[in-house]
Amino acid sequence: MAPRKLAAGNWKMNGTFAALDQIDRLAADLPTSGCDVLICPPATLVHAMSARAAGKLAVGGQDCHAKTSGAHTGDIAAEQLKDAGATHVILGHSERRTDHAETDAQVAAKSLAAYETGLVAVICVGETEAQRDAGETLDVISAQLAGSIPEGATAANTVIAYEPVWAIGTGRTPTNEQIAEVHALMRERLSARFPDGADMSLLYGGSVKPSNAAEIFATPHVNGALVGGASLKAADFGPIITALS
Ligand code: PGA
Repeated sequence: MAPRKLAAGNWKMNGTFAALDQIDRLAADLPTSGCDVLICPPATLVHAMSARAAGKLAVGGQDCHAKTSGAHTGDIAAEQLKDAGATHVILGHSERRTDHAETDAQVAAKSLAAYETGLVAVICVGETEAQRDAGETLDVISAQLAGSIPEGATAANTVIAYEPVWAIGTGRTPTNEQIAEVHALMRERLSARFPDGADMSLLYGGSVKPSNAAEIFATPHVNGALVGGASLKAADFGPIITALS
């Protein structure tokens, strides 16, 4: 099995019901094959988007709790996301790691909760600008991979997204060589640790847009993208999906 291609959109804390019109526009123009398409809207929209997408694209959450239920005000369980129609959940995004001080161990525990529920975990890793400037990128990524991915990860239940923190929402992207270096390291680490690590989908994320998507997708071991700002409008996300298909 070769890694599946995936174009994933991360709406972050953007969008109300009115934004679901974008799903109709996107679905009307989707290439019929070539890659999977996923959108992770705010939790308030997961159910309505799943109904609206009607099997044309997958819908996911942006976080879940490690526990299945209980006294955790403001949190959401993997089972609740699944019940609302989600098939995936983003875990360990750098904004969660920063805003909520999430650790690798917590990301691993959440990933296990996703596996137990039957959701695909889209686990994010990435270095800060200071870490890149200090020459620590490969060590940081290796440590995050080791700590954030639990035992039991397979190509069917896990997608890894490399998102340099300094490239998120900044319009700056790494060079293709820099992306290739990290993706080669990830492929090597995953293949060494998991029986089907060679088949796990590896995404790049950080300022992906229609104008740079094709070049990024041509990079070795890049099997798709996790797209923030450019996933909000069908007119931007559509061409990115086409570039991957
Ligand atoms: P961006 O965000 O595409 O807006 O840079 C990517 C992400 O954070 O997933």
